Amino acid sequence: VDALLADLAGITGGEHLLTDQDMTGGYTTDWTRRYRGPARCVVRPASTEEVAGVIEACARHKAPVVPQGGNTGLVGGGVPYRARQDNPPVVLSARRLTRLDPVDTLSGQVTAGAGVTIAELRAHASRAGFEYGVDLASHQAATVGGTIATNAGGVLKMRYGGTRAQVLGVEAVLADGSVISHLGGIEADNTGYDLGQLMVGSEGTLGVVTAARLRLWPAEPPLLTLLAGVGGIEEAVTLQAAIRAAVPGIRAVEYFEAPGLALVRRHAGLPAPLPEDYPGYLLAEVAGSEGNAEDYAERLSVTPPLQKASVAMDAAGRAALWAYRERHTEAISAEGIPHKLDVAMPLSQLAQFRAELDEVIAKTGGRAIVFGHIGAGNVHVNVLGPAPQDDAVDNAVLRLAAAHGGSISAEHGIGHAKAALLHLSRTPAEIAAMRTVKTALDPDGILNPGVLLAPQESK
Ligand SMILES: Cc1cc2nc3c(=O)[nH]c(=O)nc-3n(C[C@H](O)[C@H](O)[C@H](O)COP(=O)(O)OP(=O)(O)OC[C@H]3O[C@@H](n4cnc5c(N)ncnc54)[C@H](O)[C@@H]3O)c2cc1C
Repeated sequence: VDALLADLAGITGGEHLLTDQDMTGGYTTDWTRRYRGPARCVVRPASTEEVAGVIEACARHKAPVVPQGGNTGLVGGGVPYRARQDNPPVVLSARRLTRLDPVDTLSGQVTAGAGVTIAELRAHASRAGFEYGVDLASHQAATVGGTIATNAGGVLKMRYGGTRAQVLGVEAVLADGSVISHLGGIEADNTGYDLGQLMVGSEGTLGVVTAARLRLWPAEPPLLTLLAGVGGIEEAVTLQAAIRAAVPGIRAVEYFEAPGLALVRRHAGLPAPLPEDYPGYLLAEVAGSEGNAEDYAERLSVTPPLQKASVAMDAAGRAALWAYRERHTEAISAEGIPHKLDVAMPLSQLAQFRAELDEVIAKTGGRAIVFGHIGAGNVHVNVLGPAPQDDAVDNAVLRLAAAHGGSISAEHGIGHAKAALLHLSRTPAEIAAMRTVKTALDPDGILNPGVLLAPQESK
């Protein structure tokens, strides 16, 4: 008898402890199908107390734990991967932590459980006249806990900041089973280390997030969405600056290219978005009241590429334009297992990076599909072709981004995928400080081993 499994079943009840591979498969393979590995079990606690019990039991049995939310992460951080065969990890699914308190309309805040999806949270906020400031194409499955653990960005980042900017406080279970809880939502609260912010972007390596106090924004309905053809990324960078200067209230500026559009159109059966084809496309969304519509349209029309743009002002029309951008990820995955390299750099460097990228990828025999949140300098370089376990193209693209002063992870995190390359974006002193924090909070290294910080060579 496995004593750990008996302990876990005692905490969550046997029906929430999955050991049969038919039942665990959806939790042990990631969204891209690139990362997978065996789990000792999947456990599904329903309350903070149950999470604390699970972690305490795992700590006692020295069993590694992989926290998981919606399993939409793209860097292999939420599934077992390259785990020790003799001690495979416990996957702790936080999806049953579905607490969702009424919106506090006095403060414009809400407390949400880690398992609440971003779509549910956004709908809940919207019913109270507010907006949650993070949205991403995976919103039907991505969770509050997962987006906090990865500090998810998304399409509204340039409007409201990423997840970090929404988090006022966190409740989390640490590696010894203790619970830290700071959900009071006091904006003016200067009382020492911000442990909640430490959890943001920690990728399940420092604690299991069970709930969070989140900032909401006054609802700001989009006024118009436009899609313009451009000659390439350089023109897109210039155009997004012109749009930002022309009108206030830019909610999002996204970019994609002809090869990605072709895949999306084939996969989703969509018509061409514009009468002519272009090498690149810029999608922008502007907020404002209806009274501004004509004024905005006039201000935007002085920018040459926008004279040929498609503009939508009603919900259905806007959704139709967004589909060309939002359906990229699924269309690419339908083609094969992609290498997903999510980089960011100063806007001034994007054109040069893009010019050198094709050559770098051609050497690996792959083909690139490039799109992303261009307003934030963030491009998703997806490469189809090289075998899933062949890291050559990953290395080459991340090094190219670093050479242009960029970050090797704009928003997806480091996970297992990029742990060995963290030094391209962080200094030795920074990595040493991160290891010190990790060791202090998780001395036995049971939380997500190998994620974010690569295992150290034994001396
Ligand atoms: C179609 C598609 C579009 C996407 N678009 C974007 C985008 O625009 N911007 C963006 O940033 N990302 C995007 N992503 C990536 C992904 O959706 C985000 O990383 C998201 O934050 C992951 O949330 P999740 O709940 O699915 O977490 P998971 O995938 O389950 O886990 C991700 C990481 O968080 C940890 N974790 C999960 N839950 C907890 C918890 N409760 N406590 C502690 N650690 C936890 C895991 O261990 C893992 O390291 C996209 C993914 C897809 C498939």
